[in-house]
Amino acid sequence: MQTNLADFIKGTPDGDEADSILRACVHCGFCTATCPTYQILGDELDGPRGRIYLIKQVLEGAPVTRKTQLHLDRCLTCRNCESTCPSGVKYGRLADIGRKVVEQRVRRPLGERLTRALLKEALPRAWIFKPAFKAGQLVRPLLSPALQDKLPPTPAPGRWPTRTHARKMLVLDGCVQPAMAPNINAASARVLDAFGVQLIRAPKAGCCGALRYHLNDQEAGLDDMRRNIDAWWPLLDQVEAIVMTASGCGVTVKEYGHLLAHDGAYAAKAKRVSEMTLDLCELVPQFEAELGARLQGKIAGRVAYHPPCTLQHGQQIRGKVEGVLRAAGVDVVLCADSHLCCGSAGTYSVLQSALSHELRERKLQNLEATGAREIVSANIGCLTHLQAGTETPVTHWIELIDRALAA
Ligand code: SF4
Ligand code: SF4
Repeated sequence: MQTNLADFIKGTPDGDEADSILRACVHCGFCTATCPTYQILGDELDGPRGRIYLIKQVLEGAPVTRKTQLHLDRCLTCRNCESTCPSGVKYGRLADIGRKVVEQRVRRPLGERLTRALLKEALPRAWIFKPAFKAGQLVRPLLSPALQDKLPPTPAPGRWPTRTHARKMLVLDGCVQPAMAPNINAASARVLDAFGVQLIRAPKAGCCGALRYHLNDQEAGLDDMRRNIDAWWPLLDQVEAIVMTASGCGVTVKEYGHLLAHDGAYAAKAKRVSEMTLDLCELVPQFEAELGARLQGKIAGRVAYHPPCTLQHGQQIRGKVEGVLRAAGVDVVLCADSHLCCGSAGTYSVLQSALSHELRERKLQNLEATGAREIVSANIGCLTHLQAGTETPVTHWIELIDRALAA
C-alpha cells in the first residue's frame, strides 16, 4: 500500500513504524473473515482491513472523527488478523499508534472519560484495586448483574512453597490477579517446586503496563514497564527466566524491548528482560515426562482448553498447553472456532460490554458443546470473563496440574 504520511508524524519513530506496517498491507482482505468484530457487525470498518485504512487516513492528515474512534475502540486487539495475514502485517502495533493519535484529536464524552480514568487509575494499582475488590465482594448481592460478573469469589491461594532450589525464576504478580485469583501463582510455585524450580517475586513489580498502554495512556504504560524493569534488574543475575502466568502480561513484557527501544536509559535493560521472559507453558514442557509418570489416570473427564488471544496470536504460541495436559493424561480438547476471542480483551469487557458479551456467549456455546466438565485457560482476564457466563468451572491449566499433584 502506498503511503504519504502527514508532517506531524513523518520521520518520528511511530511514523516510521506505522509507515512500514502500512506498506506491508496489500489490502487482500484475508484477515477480514477471521475478525470477531467483523463477524458480528458485518461492517468493513469493523474489520482489520477497514481499520488499517482508517488509520492510514488519520496518519496522512485526514480529519479525525468520533466515528473513526468508535471503529478503533471496537477492535479487541486480539491480533487474530496478524495470524491470518499472509504479508506479516503487524496490525497490533499499527492500532496502538493510530489510537494514540485519535485519542489526542477526539475528545470523548464525559462519561467515557471518567470510566477510562477510573480504569487507568484503579486497576494497575494493587493497593487501590485489592481493597476496592474486597469491598465490592461484600456488597455483591446489591450490585447490578454486570458488576457482579466482575466480582467473583476469591479462591484461597493455599501455601507458597518454602524450599529453596538452585534453579530460580522470577514470577510477575501483576495488577488484578493477586486479588482475583491468587491461587494461580501459588499453584505455579507449587508445581515448579515439585520439579526443583523456586519461583520468587519482586515486591516492587506490578502491572505489566498493558492496561494503561492500551487505554491510550501510553506514557503511563511505559512508566509501569520501567518500574518493573527497575524491580527485576537487581535479581536478573540470580534467575534463569521471568515467568508469566497470565498471557496478557506475557505478551506485553516480551514487547518491552521493542516499546522502549528509543529510551536511552532503558532500551538495553528492556531487551534483556524481554529475552528472559517465558510463558508458563513454555517452561513446564521441560517436566512433561515426569508429569506424565506422576499424573497418568489422575485427572478424569474431558477438559476444554480455551487458548487466549494473547498466547495464540500475540505470542504465536500454540499447542503447548494442550501438549502438557495430554502428557499428563488429560483428555483435553479445543472447541470449534478456538482461534476467536472470548470477548474479555483487558478492559474491553467493561468498555464494549455488548460486543464482549456476544463473543462470550458464542465462545461458551462452543466450549460447552465439547462436553467438557471443566474449562481451562491461561489468562486471568479470559478466566474471569468466561466464568461469569457459565456454571462449568473455569480455571488456569496450572491449577488442574497442581490439584492432581496434591491428590
Ligand atoms: S492486513 Fe494482511 S490479510 Fe489483511 S488486508 Fe492487509 S495484507 Fe491482507
Ligand atoms: S485485532 Fe482482532 S478485533 Fe481487531 S481488527 Fe484484528 S482481528 Fe479484528
